[in-house]
Amino acid sequence: MATWRAPPSLRRTFFAPPSISLPPLLLEQNQSNRRTIHCSTSATEDSATFSPVQSEITNPCRNSSWKPMCLYNSQGICTKMDDPLHVQKFNHSFSVGSASDLKKFRGQEFDYFLVLDLEGKVEILEFPVLLFDVEKMDVLDVFHRFVRPTKMSGQRINEYIEGKYGAFGIDRVWHDTAIKFEEVIEQFEAWLDKHKLCGNERAGRLNNGAFVICGNWDLKTAIPHQCAVSNIKLPPYFMEWINLKDVYLNFYNRRAPGMLSMMRGLQIPLLGNHHLGVDDARNIARVLQHMLADGALLKITARRPPGPRDNVQFLFQNRIR
Ligand SMILES: [Zn+2]
Repeated sequence: MATWRAPPSLRRTFFAPPSISLPPLLLEQNQSNRRTIHCSTSATEDSATFSPVQSEITNPCRNSSWKPMCLYNSQGICTKMDDPLHVQKFNHSFSVGSASDLKKFRGQEFDYFLVLDLEGKVEILEFPVLLFDVEKMDVLDVFHRFVRPTKMSGQRINEYIEGKYGAFGIDRVWHDTAIKFEEVIEQFEAWLDKHKLCGNERAGRLNNGAFVICGNWDLKTAIPHQCAVSNIKLPPYFMEWINLKDVYLNFYNRRAPGMLSMMRGLQIPLLGNHHLGVDDARNIARVLQHMLADGALLKITARRPPGPRDNVQFLFQNRIR
């Protein structure tokens, strides 16, 4: 979790929704100035020990093509696609780039991977899922929602969101768009249906797809916990997953305890804000893309058999603990 707090002068929220009545130019400049960009892969695994760097949006990471994601578009509600300034400043594509220079492609058991990276410790605050198409070797679509906790007081939510998303300049977006977890799950299931991924629900798996997560926490702990807090049944498609760190360990025969160390090991630059869930998910998708192109076979690494929710079987002997 990000513990860096913006100085008071920076804490006003400028990342306004597309419908706000600020003059477009002023709005865009404010948005640009407020997004922070971390380019170094030498940062530690946890953001608690680094300070965000304010960068000129025109030259982040010496990668002129990088732009911050439009966090309204990622949630399917951008209303400014006909505004050239907005489109120029913010990324509205879900692609994680070409892998054409990486050749050792092999067949996979799944046609689709759902890259998921939740944010929030007490309750889930952000739920981003990228749909990665193995044949196209790229992200086809994104399901992204900010999640409003149900059991936390309004004051605690405000403090939490200011501390976490305020540091990225997007606390306003969070407040404007966050919905309850049960609504997120309803919308997520409609999205799964749209992509015909809900086929084998009874067997506890997706239709021709598998979740890819960095670690086990998201699906082993966070989702069951949030379902209990929100008083809903644990959806059957969350019963098995691929922990990319275990596949990485077995394929490359080297240990990477987190996303940043996997990226370092593969020399993939970190783009966007570490611990902004949708940016982390995109970085994990870049690692996934690289591993697929290197010839890694992605198999299910953990499964929750019928019975008590905390009973999880780990299917790889050699794994990150
Ligand atoms: Zn937009």
